[in-house]
Amino acid sequence: MKYYSLNKQSPVVDFAQATIQGQAPDKGLYFPETIPTLPKGFIDNIHQYNKIEIGITVMLPYIGNSMPLQQLEKIIEETINFPFPLISITPSIHALELFHGPTLAFKDVGARFMSRSLGYFNRNNSKPVTVLVATSGDTGGAVANGFLGVQGVEVIILFPKNKVSKVQELQLTTQGNNITALEIEGNFDDCQAMVKDAFIDKDLQQHYTLTSANSINVARWLPQQLYYFYAYQQWQQQLPPVISVPSGNFGNICAAILAHESGLPVQHFIAACNSNKVVTDYLSNGVYQPQKAIPTFSNAMDVGNPSNFIRILEIFHQSFQTLKNKISSYSINDDTTLQTIQEVYQQHHYLLDPHAAVAFAAINQYLQQHPNLKGYIAATAHPVKFPDVVKKATQIEVPIPESIQDLFSKPQNSTVLPAHFSALKEFLLNRK
Ligand SMILES: *Cc1c(COP(=O)(O)O)cnc(C)c1O
Repeated sequence: MKYYSLNKQSPVVDFAQATIQGQAPDKGLYFPETIPTLPKGFIDNIHQYNKIEIGITVMLPYIGNSMPLQQLEKIIEETINFPFPLISITPSIHALELFHGPTLAFKDVGARFMSRSLGYFNRNNSKPVTVLVATSGDTGGAVANGFLGVQGVEVIILFPKNKVSKVQELQLTTQGNNITALEIEGNFDDCQAMVKDAFIDKDLQQHYTLTSANSINVARWLPQQLYYFYAYQQWQQQLPPVISVPSGNFGNICAAILAHESGLPVQHFIAACNSNKVVTDYLSNGVYQPQKAIPTFSNAMDVGNPSNFIRILEIFHQSFQTLKNKISSYSINDDTTLQTIQEVYQQHHYLLDPHAAVAFAAINQYLQQHPNLKGYIAATAHPVKFPDVVKKATQIEVPIPESIQDLFSKPQNSTVLPAHFSALKEFLLNRK
């Protein structure tokens, strides 16, 4: 498989090159030259496959000859070694729980696949790759955990001081080893601006091989298809599901749409947004107008210009009408998010995190118009990652899952830096 840049000004590359580069030299996103068709009979017989076999069937066409089959199998096995249960919340709405991985958010899947791929592609290089990543919370934890102990790769994470939840902070600062955490005295936008400056700095380029781990990387984007197949294995209704995905950068929903293009049965997609509603507005009036991000309870979706939306347009060959036939979008504000967490807990005894709550409110609106359909939400994070909002809605103190209890006794390690690129540069050059 070859990948071209959506800006069309760069040469095509294979999966390995696309993974190492992240973004094409012309700053475009990489996109596969063809969307593979699933083997005949695969969907009809999906119950006969195990998770790893599904992973290989779906991913192999995208990986091509970039790595031996055995290596791909090993990476997939390590990527998806936790459950992806589909749980019934109401008779018509289920939750695909994507938060049973090590950092309790769906980003574990993409981060684990990408880290292992990058480690493999850099295996013969004596110089380590340095992954520089800015995070508002979830990405950093998944990337840190995914890359922990991966040979030939070191990770430097910038996060806004005092602006991530306790569990998120622990996931960022207790890893040690090849993971370095930097607490920036600013907000997420400051962190992101510092990382961007670092990538174009000539002095840093002499000392570091820098790469990013954000969601535009094909090695993070493509494996996110897998759990939609695991959901279909568990789907027991006649009609295919309506799938509601809480969306920020639109990588996750774009992976689901790609899976559908390959042959995964899906009735309809719901792009569930918080008050950052560029795509919701686009679908209603045809005008795509990027905005400054607004802070909300579902902060992993506070994105004013979703980077992956351009890939969705490419899948639909830039046809607004085709897109509209397959995707609906709803914007859910913080009040409705709180109310949804509260009502779903009281009526159905299911605890939603704020992101899943946005997805639930959105699919609920859609299904009221389409009462013969059923569907599921992508439950992208465990409620314990957003304890303040969940408590505000339900008065419940979310119990800490056993799998992360040891975080609380580990020593924390991080360096505080002012929110200026010069401080980051000095830090990076001094540690060489
Ligand atoms: C990152 C994230 C999202 C948004 O996913 P995109 O792929 O950027 O659309 C939604 N929910 C949670 C919990 C996240 O961490």
